[in-house]
Amino acid sequence: MTTVQKIDQLASMIKEHKNAVAFSGAGISTDSGIPDYRTPGSGAWTKYDSSIVSIPGFLNDPTQYYEYAMEMYPIRRSAKPNKAHLLLAKLEKEGFINGVITQNVDGLHLEAGSRTVHELHGSTRRASCLQCGQLYSMDEIMERVEKGENPPICKEFEGNPCQGLIKPTTVFFGEPLPKAPWDASVDKSRETALMIVIGSSLQVSPANSLPDIALQTGSELVIVDLMNTPFDSRAHLVINERAVLVAEMLEKKLAL
Ligand SMILES: [Zn+2]
Repeated sequence: MTTVQKIDQLASMIKEHKNAVAFSGAGISTDSGIPDYRTPGSGAWTKYDSSIVSIPGFLNDPTQYYEYAMEMYPIRRSAKPNKAHLLLAKLEKEGFINGVITQNVDGLHLEAGSRTVHELHGSTRRASCLQCGQLYSMDEIMERVEKGENPPICKEFEGNPCQGLIKPTTVFFGEPLPKAPWDASVDKSRETALMIVIGSSLQVSPANSLPDIALQTGSELVIVDLMNTPFDSRAHLVINERAVLVAEMLEKKLAL
């Protein structure tokens, strides 16, 4: 089947199943300039040890983590949603999909206008105090780090000085996934009739159990990724193309 034929088929499937759910991974954001931070040996990991994004590593040396964060932050701040993020927001608005489950921490789905976004691995846009749970915007925290407060410390919670260490809400190695987005994603995977995986090679556990749940409860599975995935043989449609290209073609086909 040619890519054009595959896009035609995907468009038909989306029109047929009104409660589709999208599941996105790092591949959807590479065209926005976001490096895959979980790939040791790439980008920043030639300079920093990846243990800084593990809980023991972070607690042992939070200052080093924030030095790394200072380097990465301008890249993430300047990244903008691309055509694939924007199309998913449009599909939700038009009633074709009822949400996005994402492994990404870049916040680009929300910025693109998607309303229902389940961020399985947290977000680089928010930070929280490890003692009291107080939430902060990462912009505020990075501003404080830039001014020399490294590591940043929680100053106050309900009038009491707290002194807890502030950590981004992104899930570090060895940390459990936050419960609420995970539970919502499991429910969505059970209920959907069509799961569209975009830019995930479905290697990271337990997130990659969601397509399995969808398949077991009778959903159709579509995979859009440059790489082969362990689910390809069970998928109803596999498109080995860049997410932005597929989005562009699909948007035209659906005449959105
Ligand atoms: Zn606190």
